[in-house]
Amino acid sequence: MGNIFCFRYDPEHGPESVKDALNVFEKLVQRMEKSDIREEALAERLRGAEENDPVRCGFPKCEVHDIYLSVFGCQVCTD
Ligand SMILES: [Zn+2]
Repeated sequence: MGNIFCFRYDPEHGPESVKDALNVFEKLVQRMEKSDIREEALAERLRGAEENDPVRCGFPKCEVHDIYLSVFGCQVCTD
């Protein structure tokens, strides 16, 4: 299994924590090779998705913030 990138905003470190996370993400993308792509991952993801999962609803956006919703809703509205 490859790397999983997960980021949670840290208010104590402020914007620097976002910059650090983006730098890590950039390095992961730069290192990625074709062999890192798991062709079966999309089918697995869709099989495991609930009916209200954005992947099954056409990737809706928040009407207030114009950002894509996650399975938990809008990341801005819910903070
Ligand atoms: Zn919102």
